[in-house]
Amino acid sequence: MDSLYIVVPCYNEEEVLHETTRRLTDKLNRMVADGMIAGTSRIMYVDDGSKDQTWQIIGQLHAENPYVTGVKLSRNRGHQNALLAGLMTAKDLCDVTVSMDADLQDDIEVLDEFIQKYREGCDIVYGVRSNRDTDTGFKRNTAQAFYKLLKFFGVDAVYNHADYRLMSKRALDGLAEFGEVNLFLRGIVPQIGYQTAVVEYSRGERFAGESKYPLKKMMAFAFDGITSFSIKPIRMILTVGLVIFLVSLVMLIYSLVVNALGQTETGWTSMMMSIWLLGGLQLMAVGIIGEYVGKAYLETKKRPKYIIETVLKDRE
Ligand code: UDP
Ligand code: MG
Repeated sequence: MDSLYIVVPCYNEEEVLHETTRRLTDKLNRMVADGMIAGTSRIMYVDDGSKDQTWQIIGQLHAENPYVTGVKLSRNRGHQNALLAGLMTAKDLCDVTVSMDADLQDDIEVLDEFIQKYREGCDIVYGVRSNRDTDTGFKRNTAQAFYKLLKFFGVDAVYNHADYRLMSKRALDGLAEFGEVNLFLRGIVPQIGYQTAVVEYSRGERFAGESKYPLKKMMAFAFDGITSFSIKPIRMILTVGLVIFLVSLVMLIYSLVVNALGQTETGWTSMMMSIWLLGGLQLMAVGIIGEYVGKAYLETKKRPKYIIETVLKDRE
């Protein structure tokens, strides 16, 4: 029987941990009873440097509930890194992992289907949201724009899949091979390969606490996702630059001809326009190239993505 670790990154989640643990324990109990997973399965909370009582609560839960275990990061490193820390720790302790958010917005009843697909030979199973009725219109639209952008820029990500996902030990070993510091899991996981499957579910509401992904963070996440995977923005600049260059050649010939004919242009309008246009384009180009140079710089440092402070041990 395979043991399942449910990896849950937590940042200031004191309000939800008790309820999440209650529901997950109930689910795990049923799955163990049905012979789907081993009794050694666990809920692994990763405290991403929370400033509230999250870690203390994880400690309490661990003391009273044999399913609960925990990992504490030395400081806040963000959702993706916290998730990776949990997955890499779990990798050596279990056979298969599922990652999910602490707020249980992802329907845990589809865990059966996840395990089913895993048993049929899939190494990665993506949970995909079939509806977003409970999200605000704003969140829905920005999320859609996010996936469209990724697609436009040629990033191979699964549509409407957040990080609710099953990964086998073998898939995690694959993931460990990706050494990049700038981590965008939704883009990397499809690169691992193996047999995969998609399971649809409907996304519920966060039952307590508030979203840790405000607009600003979401935009940074999207930008990072694109520039970590695609050099299309740089190519676009090249194309725009080329077009403008060709246009200016035509303009040059035109003004030379006009000049030769003795009808000197006053030229103020076109001059101002080209200065502003070119100035803007150049700044944008430098900015985008700078982003990639910056990324290359950060990658060369090979800084650790996270530092683990504590891993809770199972009681004997
Ligand atoms: N999270 C984290 N570190 C952070 C921000 C968020 O570990 O710096 C966790 C958070 O506790 C939650 C998950 O990432 O379990 C997703 O966050 P949230 O539910 O707030 O995002 P949303 O569902 O609103 O996109
Ligand atoms: Mg959430």
